[in-house]
Amino acid sequence: VPGTLVRVPLGRREVLGVVWNPPVSLENAEHDMALKPVGAALDALAPLGEAWRDLVAFAARYYQRSIGEIALAALPPQLRDLSGTQLARRLKRKTAAGPVAETAEAAHPVALSAEQTAALARIEAGEAGTFLLVGSTGSGKTEVYLRCVADLLARDPEAQALVMVPEINLTPQLEARFKARFGDEAVVSLHSGMTNPQRLASWLAAHSGAARIVLGTRMAVFASIPGLKLIVVDEEHDPSYKQQEGARYSARDLAVWRGQREGAKVILGSATPSLESWHQSRPAEGEDPGGRYVRLAMPSRIGAGELPTVRLVDMNLQPPKTVISAALLDAIGQRIARGEQSMVFLNRRGYAPVLACGDCGWKSECPHCSAYRVFHKIDRTLRCHHCGFTERVPRACPACGNPDIAPVGRGTERLEEHLAELFAAVTRPDGSAVRIARIDADSTKKQGALESQLAAVHSGEVDVLVGTQMIAKGHDFRRITLVAAVNPDGALFSSDFRAPERLFSLLMQSAGRAGRDAAYLAAQGATAEMWIQTHHAQHPLFSALRRHDYTAFARQQLEERAAAGMPPFAFQALLRADARTQEAAQAFLNAASAAAEALEGADRVVRYPAVPLAIQRVANVERAQMLIESPSRAALQRLLAQWQPLLHALRRTPEGKGVIRWLVDVDPHSI
Ligand code: ADP
Ligand code: ZN
Ligand code: ZN
Repeated sequence: VPGTLVRVPLGRREVLGVVWNPPVSLENAEHDMALKPVGAALDALAPLGEAWRDLVAFAARYYQRSIGEIALAALPPQLRDLSGTQLARRLKRKTAAGPVAETAEAAHPVALSAEQTAALARIEAGEAGTFLLVGSTGSGKTEVYLRCVADLLARDPEAQALVMVPEINLTPQLEARFKARFGDEAVVSLHSGMTNPQRLASWLAAHSGAARIVLGTRMAVFASIPGLKLIVVDEEHDPSYKQQEGARYSARDLAVWRGQREGAKVILGSATPSLESWHQSRPAEGEDPGGRYVRLAMPSRIGAGELPTVRLVDMNLQPPKTVISAALLDAIGQRIARGEQSMVFLNRRGYAPVLACGDCGWKSECPHCSAYRVFHKIDRTLRCHHCGFTERVPRACPACGNPDIAPVGRGTERLEEHLAELFAAVTRPDGSAVRIARIDADSTKKQGALESQLAAVHSGEVDVLVGTQMIAKGHDFRRITLVAAVNPDGALFSSDFRAPERLFSLLMQSAGRAGRDAAYLAAQGATAEMWIQTHHAQHPLFSALRRHDYTAFARQQLEERAAAGMPPFAFQALLRADARTQEAAQAFLNAASAAAEALEGADRVVRYPAVPLAIQRVANVERAQMLIESPSRAALQRLLAQWQPLLHALRRTPEGKGVIRWLVDVDPHSI
């Protein structure tokens, strides 16, 4: 039966397979391959449904990968190793879908705000469709998701819901909220931080229908969920939804496709939607029939909370080498004295991005990459953030022997150290010393480290939290009244056309961490503030941010994109080649471009010249890319489909000689 998992002999091995085509296709097979019998069918497991197979086939087609690769990645790794009897034993432990337990929280839900009520009513009015829920940070989007799920499960005893979040570190908080509402049994998680047995258990529970709610990161979009009726994509603008290796799929886009295929409603939620989704949800106007998504707005914060006041500090007016302006220091100091919390945000980890010699000009370049190694003071190492190459910090300049090599620039480690010095004399209300904590990829490497660090913030043990974008997203901190971005300028003038969009949403998200509890603010007599230190205070991005005016920002960006013919008004793909030399990489791309010339519909797709990547060399591999673009998604897809076999063939010609690998990235995020 199509969808059945089987063990099949392949050479000397036995591998997992999925029956794809109806068996009839074997009888009129035209090839002369010898066929071996299937080893065993794992028929204790219900076959994977047609909708799931369609999703896998679509993703393979759209992102230019093979069906087998996508299907295999979508299945829990342990399925590959279990025998039929082992699997049957696992399955016995699982119970069938039960009624959702009535938990204490479910019995006494909060009363929805007027905006929440209106949004919910619109979502529940129709049969299916995609909704873009544009809700300010703290407007109670999660409560809308919870209510939608609750209503669905109560209405339909077979229904299941899929709820996605961008990052693993946001799953525990969400899982706790869903379990409090629906009971432990009803909810399973799926993300890459789980052990293989956990993943298998979750997957089986979703596949059997026992789990009514599946929570997860982007990989969860491929879960087998036979009763799927609702998909939520929280923080839909987040770049993490785009897989950056292997099959480079966008889980957000696949969720929309899947919802349509399965007649499930899709809710995309964000305070700062992607410009693609924003454009797709535009209302009809004149000739324009409007977008396919329904736009819903929740502009107000819960409990009459105000969005934080945005303060711009013009760094041009500060004494040279100022890291934190006197005004910001004073503002943080006042908050410490009142027992409130502050968050200082810097999107760069490590102590300093470069170590340099003032005498001879030596810099801590990575010998394997076109990038500098980052100085980490804690373990006195120089680490390349691209290839991982790590060495002890040299005692003296390796080039000239000068013992005074100095850090240049500033990462979170150095900022943490600096803040500790600045606030050494300030005390908390109980007279104790200030506590500063740092959360970034380095501080959270150990299992459970992030949870305990976040718990310390929530319990009020921390006064000033320093961190990267990890702390800017999603968390429902209750006592933070000030958020500061100390050096966000880098993204303003990036060559990547999506950089302003990303910066704007990151700053809005960061601002969203301040003053989330209106009652707390009132009791403290405090106002929530977002501070931004910049050398470009007049930049339109900041003036829109100041007014919390996403709409104005989006309008301006979309005008620029329309004028330049960029997404969402055009569709793009990248062809990338990695080789030992830059010439070899580019030669492959240029040959590929020449080969595309003759393809049907090639005139509707623009192929740009091959160029090196921004970071050209990583781990001694030279990287080049070629952008291709079309105003028509279908035209781009048609070209890619015809191109694929040519690219494989090209690899075996002289032009493909030095190429280590090539790949196609459809709807790429960074260019
Ligand atoms: P968002 O996801 O939009 O940033 P949340 O859903 O996290 O916002 O809601 C912010 C806070 O407001 C949470 O602590 C949540 O429990 C609370 N909340 C949400 N809706 C309501 C409501 N209708 N009444 C009272 N509190 C609410
Ligand atoms: Zn030197
Ligand atoms: Zn390197």
